Amino acid sequence: MKAEILAALRETDGYVSGQDLCKKFGVSRTAIWKAINQLKIAGYEIEAVQNRGYHIVSTPDILSENELRSICKTQWIGNKIYYEPTMGSTNTKAMQLAEEGAPHGTLVVADHQISGRGRRGKKWETPSGTAIAMTFLLRPEINPNNAPMLTIVAALAVRKGIEEKSGVKVGIKWPNDIVINRKKVSGILTEMSAQIDYVNHVVIGIGINVHVHEFPEELQEIATSIYNESGKRINRSALIECICEYFEDYYEVFLSSEDLSEFVKEYNSYMVNLNQSVRVLDPREPFEGKARGITARGELLVDTWESRRLVSSGEVSVRGIYGYI
Ligand code: ATP
Repeated sequence: MKAEILAALRETDGYVSGQDLCKKFGVSRTAIWKAINQLKIAGYEIEAVQNRGYHIVSTPDILSENELRSICKTQWIGNKIYYEPTMGSTNTKAMQLAEEGAPHGTLVVADHQISGRGRRGKKWETPSGTAIAMTFLLRPEINPNNAPMLTIVAALAVRKGIEEKSGVKVGIKWPNDIVINRKKVSGILTEMSAQIDYVNHVVIGIGINVHVHEFPEELQEIATSIYNESGKRINRSALIECICEYFEDYYEVFLSSEDLSEFVKEYNSYMVNLNQSVRVLDPREPFEGKARGITARGELLVDTWESRRLVSSGEVSVRGIYGYI
């Protein structure tokens, strides 16, 4: 019931009377009082004013089942939430839940992800208490060839959510790195289970450095956190909710065309390496050129000295000529 009470308190900016809560949940005043006390012990600041009721003043930055279940503004993402304080990888868990029949929109969240992955087996670091590790489980009725574009859809939603909550300018390094001040604040990993012409499920893993202070030495040049760049300690659950809402909007538009035609302009306007010299780390043969934006299928257009090339995200990384960007 704590999650439901939290949700009821959040639905309004004002007060909710104890009596209304009793009626709504069909329980006694004492039961409400007890639940409110437990929430206070968990760190929620809840004010109780005679004749007016309860009012939520501040929310601690804890990720918990109750906290996440009180997320109430989304339409379908998070209808089912799977939370564990510590998990190997939220993508692996989501894949497993998908095999067991978990529904479209299932949201998997961990406070501490021990073996987070990036593309091509790279490692993604998620320290406990200061980052977000979450995965959306989707069952889209689309052609499997179009599913990789969902990474771009997610990147747009993550970018927008972080910018809204942090108040600082947030960009995207093609295809899926979210960056602030030319450093990486978030990474996205999309994985799929499919038949030749049918998608069983897609999982989109999103790692965000929220108030991570220090990074392992090898990441110090390329990684940053929202706190490091904005000085703000934003609430992780609130950020999760905001990104989920934006993702729902972008996803609906994506489904209508099954490509990124509606997003090319927006994506390019946030692309940090647009019109910059880039080095494409193609495993067959690396090459250099100028990045000219994405196509409606999410490929990167790169002008080399001899021709225009189309780069697909699957196998390559893109770097600046002298560094990460
Ligand atoms: P790139 O093309 O820039 O190499 P990628 O898309 O291949 O990126 P991802 O798969 O998104 O990389 O993420 C893995 C990489 O991100 C790691 O190799 C490491 O360099 C970096 N990384 C790992 N953990 C973090 C973190 N918490 N914050 C920022 N960067 C990280």
